[in-house]
Amino acid sequence: MATSAVKFSPPKLAQLKPGKLLIGGKWVDAKSGKRFDALNPATGQTLTTLAEGDKADVDLAVKAARAAFEGAWAKLLPRERQAMLWKVGDLILENADEIAEIESLDNGKPIRESRNVDIPMAAEVFRYYAGWVTKIHGETVPVNGPFFNYTLREPMGVVGQIIPWNFPLLMAAWKLAPALACGNTCVLKPAEQTSLSALRLGELILEAGLPEGVVNIITGFGPTAGAALSAHMDVDKIAFTGETSTGRLILEASAKSNLKRPSLELGGKSPNIVFADADMDTAVRGTFTGIFFNQGQVCCAGSRLFVEEKAHDVFMEKLVARAAKIKQGDPLDPGTTMGPQVSKEQMEKVLSYLELGRQEGAQPVLGGGPSKLAEETGGYFVEPTIFDRATNDMRLAREEIFGPVLTTITFRDIEDVVRQGNDTLYGLAAGVFTSDVRKAHRVAAALRAGTVWVNTWNVFDPASPFGGYKMSGFGRELGAHCLELYTQTKSVWVNLG
Ligand code: ADP
Repeated sequence: MATSAVKFSPPKLAQLKPGKLLIGGKWVDAKSGKRFDALNPATGQTLTTLAEGDKADVDLAVKAARAAFEGAWAKLLPRERQAMLWKVGDLILENADEIAEIESLDNGKPIRESRNVDIPMAAEVFRYYAGWVTKIHGETVPVNGPFFNYTLREPMGVVGQIIPWNFPLLMAAWKLAPALACGNTCVLKPAEQTSLSALRLGELILEAGLPEGVVNIITGFGPTAGAALSAHMDVDKIAFTGETSTGRLILEASAKSNLKRPSLELGGKSPNIVFADADMDTAVRGTFTGIFFNQGQVCCAGSRLFVEEKAHDVFMEKLVARAAKIKQGDPLDPGTTMGPQVSKEQMEKVLSYLELGRQEGAQPVLGGGPSKLAEETGGYFVEPTIFDRATNDMRLAREEIFGPVLTTITFRDIEDVVRQGNDTLYGLAAGVFTSDVRKAHRVAAALRAGTVWVNTWNVFDPASPFGGYKMSGFGRELGAHCLELYTQTKSVWVNLG
């Protein structure tokens, strides 16, 4: 494994000023006065401190969001709201270098990924939903009787949005842009590990002219700030992306409070199926991206690799050779292709699975332990790891690791692999590599997952829906489908008799 020389670029960013909460258009401290550290996962050092919001701050943010929902935001014309959302996209692009640096410092992802993927995609999502603002409308309904019946498509109201740390800015965009396009106001809680880019986005949202209180940002912890948001009686909808176990807590909080409408995008253990007739180079590329992109911290990671037995040796040789070229190092170095895990907890979780995999009898054919960079830098680096000769009943194949750990299983034929692929609690994504178009469509239809990639992996577009089957959650983000999460329909009857 190549590791770049351990020289960490000093952060040069103004944004590393201490973070505050954004409530009602003002940057304020937490009511409690408490603060917590934002850490650099590549060094373990403190980057800056953040306001630790909790219930009292969430209450204020919800009040501000309610006032904006009933006031300034509702009064704007659709074309005015459209222009503002487009402007947010513009501002993200204008500041892309700076935001990419914030993202890589805070999350540990390689700068080439934050600069080329996360940041431009976030801008694109704002622009895509800007287009929808002027196109959301109801219908007239041919009812029986002397009545005129029509529907209005109205916003939900105040929306709570809780996001994870793996794509901090992008997840904020996925949440905020459609909610705002539908006319809602928002209280966003970024993940405690990675709040910096959301705070920068808050500044850009104000700069784009969105009225005060339309977007409020509460930094803080899940069990306090997050729980207060999901239990709040004046939050009309809650949207969450994160672990399945946390999603359950969000559902419970919703059930025990005001039945706010939840949408959940949760974990995965996505099957990636490689048939012997696949173009091997394409399959290697897709498999590699599917598991190692973003340090494997991707909910739709192709973490369960199924290789047709007769192609096993040739495919694995190519895959291991490709993965051995990963360059781990300073996330701010443009040559780095893999950074650290986001946190110490996450690093330890991944390492515990590496140990478990061995105990279960899987064979590590690449990596398999802590990276030597972790010792040298104090950062949270682990070795990218490929386990071979695993079976689908191992915990290694059943539990979401959320790290650069691939579990390889072999299969005999389509029936066998569809059965094994679907034998999981999750259903977020799946992939199939084959040159046989019939096989591709048969398998795509048979897999129980919200996204199926054929001869590719990790392709996204703001227009294409994304979300889970089974315990990977419900509700679809992106595309026109997402508008359903953030609108409700009113039926109006007019007596013509
Ligand atoms: P992870 O354990 O990998 O950090 P989580 O699902 O816990 O993933 O985190 C995703 C988001 O959910 C974060 O913003 C986190 O603060 C938030 N969160 C965690 N616990 C709760 C909770 N009990 N209620 C609401 N939000 C929570």
